Amino acid sequence: MNSHTLPEGLHSDTLAVRAALERSQHGENSEALYLTSGYVQTSAATSAARFAMEEDGFTYSRVGNPTVASMEVRLAALEGTEAAIATASGMSAILLLGMALLKAGDHVICSQSVFGSVIPMFSREFAKFGIETTFVSQTDVQAWRDVLRPTTRLLFAETPTNPLTEVCDIRALADIAHNAGAHLAVDNCFATPVLQQPAALGADFIIHSGTKFLDGQGRVMAGAICCTQKQRDELFLPVIRTAGMVLAPFNAWVLLKGMETLSIRVKAQSANALALASWLQEQPQVARVHYPGLASHAQHALAMRQQSGCGGAVLSFEVVAPDVDTARQRAFHVLDSMRVVSLCTNLGDTKTLAAHPASTSHGRLSEAQRQAAGIGQGLIRVAVGLDHINDITADLARGLQTF
Ligand SMILES: *Cc1c(COP(=O)(O)O)cnc(C)c1O
Repeated sequence: MNSHTLPEGLHSDTLAVRAALERSQHGENSEALYLTSGYVQTSAATSAARFAMEEDGFTYSRVGNPTVASMEVRLAALEGTEAAIATASGMSAILLLGMALLKAGDHVICSQSVFGSVIPMFSREFAKFGIETTFVSQTDVQAWRDVLRPTTRLLFAETPTNPLTEVCDIRALADIAHNAGAHLAVDNCFATPVLQQPAALGADFIIHSGTKFLDGQGRVMAGAICCTQKQRDELFLPVIRTAGMVLAPFNAWVLLKGMETLSIRVKAQSANALALASWLQEQPQVARVHYPGLASHAQHALAMRQQSGCGGAVLSFEVVAPDVDTARQRAFHVLDSMRVVSLCTNLGDTKTLAAHPASTSHGRLSEAQRQAAGIGQGLIRVAVGLDHINDITADLARGLQTF
């Protein structure tokens, strides 16, 4: 579609700044933003052929838009997949996945430590349409095998997870899915294609919230599924064309530009995160640090293998506390004492952000679901940005050093 003007075999750093559709007649160097909902057709016959999908060409931006298509091409190039389909948000990518792949009577196996909204998506929304989901421990490979059914159609994992940074073995889960005639979807928000390419490890669908690292500066909502060209055209496009959870062209353009600096941002933010995790580990007010880059992390070796030797830019930690109420109070106190780090539930921003998962991203879960997911009241998640490490540690020390 795009890169026919580029030579084969370019490094992903080069693709991040160049892979996109061809330039317009004006030869712009920065990618054009096609802020248009409709497209003028040269003849009624062409229009008919395009609407029937018999001929390439744009008709209406719910079906396709050049800026959105460029963003899809660039993301697919980074993930090493043939294609991608962009959606309005990360959650709408998961909605699209379910609508396209599942039907009444199908069974899904999902990690119990996925992003907070993914659990009600499966357990409540898809359940209304007769789709059953079993939640299992992210890291217990045998547990995934044990709950397989003849009707299992999809395995859904996220690695590392939010907010506990649990890491699962993508290759092992892909083998389980494929041996059962099912598909594996991996949410690659946290690692990004810079650190981890799930398709190379056997995953069929790679889910993104573009809201996070792909944008990278906290401006827009966006999502995507990376897949084969055939899956894009035959499985997902007919659904999104009907259901309409498309990405806005402006948001796609922001992502296109965001992806140009993805690699340097992820590497710099990850280096900051490792320094912060190491510092937190030394603090007497901190009971536990969850970060795959630390040797103390339960899946450290797997993470280093699977994630280009890097823990990523998100970590979480638990404050010491004698009971649940004190834990919540202390976590709130640390967050309320910050004067630099933003109290914000987003992640993947150049600004360092901290949040309290138990009352925000995981606030809609029942206490039992939250406990199963290991989200305690003393847990704080930090999405490390490009702030100087000394300013981040000093800001967290402000609240920590008072108890
Ligand atoms: C944010 C997030 C999502 C949901 O994406 P939205 O763009 O907020 O809809 C899904 N998975 C993970 C891991 C996320 O961090």
